[in-house]
Amino acid sequence: MRGIVSEANNSEAFSEAKMSDVAVIGGGINGCALAYELAKKGVNATVFEKGYLGSGATGRCGGGIRQQFDTEDNIRLVMESVKIFEKMEKELGYDIEYDQGGYLVLAHSDEEKERFKKNVELQRSMGLGVNFLEKEEIKELCPILDVDGAKAVGATFCQTDGHANPFRVTEAYAKNAERLGAEIKTFTEVKGIKKEKRFEIITEKEKMFADVVVNAAGCYSKQIAEMVGVKLPNKPYRHEILATESLKPVLKPMIISFMDGIYFCQHKTGQIVGGIGNPDEPSGINTESSFWFLEKMASTITRYIPSFKNLNVLRQWAGMYDVTPDARPILGKTNVKNFFVVCGFSGHGFMVAPVTAKLMSELIVDGKTSMPIDNLSIERFKKGVIRKEGAVVG
Ligand SMILES: Cc1cc2nc3c(=O)[nH]c(=O)nc-3n(C[C@H](O)[C@H](O)[C@H](O)COP(=O)(O)OP(=O)(O)OC[C@H]3O[C@@H](n4cnc5c(N)ncnc54)[C@H](O)[C@@H]3O)c2cc1C
Repeated sequence: MRGIVSEANNSEAFSEAKMSDVAVIGGGINGCALAYELAKKGVNATVFEKGYLGSGATGRCGGGIRQQFDTEDNIRLVMESVKIFEKMEKELGYDIEYDQGGYLVLAHSDEEKERFKKNVELQRSMGLGVNFLEKEEIKELCPILDVDGAKAVGATFCQTDGHANPFRVTEAYAKNAERLGAEIKTFTEVKGIKKEKRFEIITEKEKMFADVVVNAAGCYSKQIAEMVGVKLPNKPYRHEILATESLKPVLKPMIISFMDGIYFCQHKTGQIVGGIGNPDEPSGINTESSFWFLEKMASTITRYIPSFKNLNVLRQWAGMYDVTPDARPILGKTNVKNFFVVCGFSGHGFMVAPVTAKLMSELIVDGKTSMPIDNLSIERFKKGVIRKEGAVVG
C-alpha cells in the first residue's frame, strides 16, 4: 500500500476485521474505473456493488461520448476522457467497440443556431475540432437524415465524438483493477457506514474498515451520503432507451437534438440505439418501460430518418439519470473527512468516467489533481450562484 493522503493514515492497525485503503461504493463505470486508477497507484481498493457490475445506469446507457458541451468544465472533462478512450483498448486489452463516428448536434431555431455558434467558438478556443454546419452541409455529411423532417436549421459536428459499449468498458476496468489487486464484491449491498477513526462499511455479509470511502452509487448516492450525514442535492429521473434489430452500416454520426430530447446512433453491432427524454417525468426511482416512450421515440426517429419506419425494435429498457441542479457532476471532498463523492452525472457519467477516475485517484492519493475540479465540488451549491450546463437532454 502506498501512503494515501488521509487523516487515518497513521492510526493503529485493525486486528480482526478486514481492512481496505479505499472502499468504493458502486460497481458502475465510475466505481470500476476508480478502482483501476487507484490500483495503478498501488492503493488497495474494494468495490461494493449491490447487484452485478453495470446493473445501475451504466449498463442501461447509450454509450455516447460527446465533447460538445457549453460549460468549460464539461468540455474539458470529456476532451480529456476522449484521450483516454482513444488508448483504452490497448491499455486495458479489451475490445470496447469504440467508434469515433462524430456527434451531430442539431439546431432547430435561429436562437439555437446563434447559441451553438457561440458554443463552437468556446469549444474551438479550448482546442476541440468542431464546426458549425449549414443545412446543405448536414445533408452532405449524413445523407440518410431528413433535415427538413427533423426541422433542423443548422448543426454542430465534432468528428472525435463517438460511442463505446458500456458493459465492455466497465468489465475492462473491473478486470484490470482486479489484476492489479483491487477487490470487487458484487451482490454486496452497503447497509450502513460508521465513521470513527476509520470508516466501518456494513453489509449483510461482513464488516470492513477503510481509511477512505468514495460514494459512486449513482442515483443512490444521496442515500449513501446520508449514512455519514452528508447532504447531496441530486435527484433521480427515469430515462428510457431502445435497441433495434441490426442493419448494415447506414448511420455514421450519433445524432442529438436538445429541443426534441432525442439521441441515437448505430452501434458496431449494427443496432440503432437511442432514447428520448420525457419533460414531464417526475423525479423518483423507476425502471419500468412505457408505451409513451415507444410511441414518442418511433414517431420522432422516423421523422428524422423516414427509412427507419420498417425497422423492428428488439427491446426497450429504462435507467436512472442522477441529476444535479446545474446538470454537472459533483466530484471531490465533502465536509466529512475522507468521504469523497463521484456522482450527479446528469446523464453524462459514462463519457467522463475515465478522466473522473484519474482525477479522483489523484485527489485521494496525492491530495491534488492535475486538472482543476474545484468548480465541481459540492461547495458550489452553498454559494448560491451556479452556471447550468445547457447542452443536455432533459
Ligand atoms: C437511458 C440512459 C442513457 C444514457 N446515455 C448516456 C450516454 O450516452 N453517455 C453517457 O456518458 N452517459 C449516459 N447515461 C448516463 C450514464 O449511464 C451514467 O451517468 C453513468 O453510467 C453513471 O455511472 P456510475 O458508475 O456513476 O453510476 P451507476 O452505473 O448507476 O452505478 C452505481 C452503482 O451503485 C450501486 N449501488 C447503489 N447503492 C448501493 C449500495 N447501497 N451498496 C452497493 N452498491 C450500491 C448500484 O447498484 C449501481 O450499480 C445514460 C443513462 C441512462 C439511464
